[in-house]
Amino acid sequence: LTQVVRPIEHFTLVWREVIRSGAQVERMLAILTEKTEAELSPGGEALPGEGPLSVGVEGLLYSHHPDHPTLREVSFVIPPGRTLAIVGPSGGGKSTLARLLFRFHEPQRGAIRFDGVPIEDLNLRVLRGALALVPQDCVLFNETLVDNIRFARPGATREEIEAAMSAAGLNDVVGRLPQGENTIVGERGLRLSGGEKQRVAIARALLKRPRLLVLDEATSALDTRTERLIQERIADVARGVTRFVVAHRLSTVVEADEIIVLEEGAIVERGSHDALLAADGCYAKMWAAQRREDAEAALEPA
Ligand code: ADP
Ligand code: MG
Repeated sequence: LTQVVRPIEHFTLVWREVIRSGAQVERMLAILTEKTEAELSPGGEALPGEGPLSVGVEGLLYSHHPDHPTLREVSFVIPPGRTLAIVGPSGGGKSTLARLLFRFHEPQRGAIRFDGVPIEDLNLRVLRGALALVPQDCVLFNETLVDNIRFARPGATREEIEAAMSAAGLNDVVGRLPQGENTIVGERGLRLSGGEKQRVAIARALLKRPRLLVLDEATSALDTRTERLIQERIADVARGVTRFVVAHRLSTVVEADEIIVLEEGAIVERGSHDALLAADGCYAKMWAAQRREDAEAALEPA
């Protein structure tokens, strides 16, 4: 029994110390997290080579809650430079799948490989340095707009920053800001709208020049016309980059090499846009529904 009690006593002591030290808690937590990251980063295999990555996902099983799987037996391959699109109802597990690629979660079963290297053999910094994510909700730092983009690749040239900002459709936004790109944004600065924040996130991701670009409903807060324009520019700037795209509007996935329909964590359909329309299943229904919505929206006065 003492063998069990000792560590608990020890833990209680340490914990009391943590609580007593008050202001130090944050620092302690920081150290604890650093340790976790170090453990997750064995420094083992670096990602070999350069250029677009291939992604292999096999039999992936993941649950946020033990009694309800979030992803069940998800498998796919994205060859280098190709685009995979994930569509499906909200809550289906699309964002969870995107986050698993960055190792923000650990799968219960299955494998994720980049250029054949298992994700758990990769140093976290190497992994996250090679991938870029445009999340559903992006967080801005209390810095200038341009610094919010520059940090994605501090060594980037002025031209590269301008190209990324322009591709993300930020020129109009910058034009409206009191100090242009030097305006402080973020929670304590000038608040940007959801659509404006999405453009910042896109500019960051493009500036990073990733080997895999993950877009999670990256343009959902933009109106249909702006969305199409920015999607085209992303496709142009990120030409040849492997892409994993969670789509909000189906019109943005027509060109994808493969489309996966994810429902309640399971793949219910997969194929190209044309093949899925021909199959006349749930994708075809979603497509028809969205066409009707778009047609109705077009009739509404602007
Ligand atoms: P989608 O992006 O397709 O809308 P999500 O991956 O966000 O789906 O969510 C899938 C399921 O997992 C949902 O039931 C959601 O409530 C749950 N979920 C998502 N993130 C978390 C989390 N961090 N903790 C617990 N449950 C989560
Ligand atoms: Mg989502």
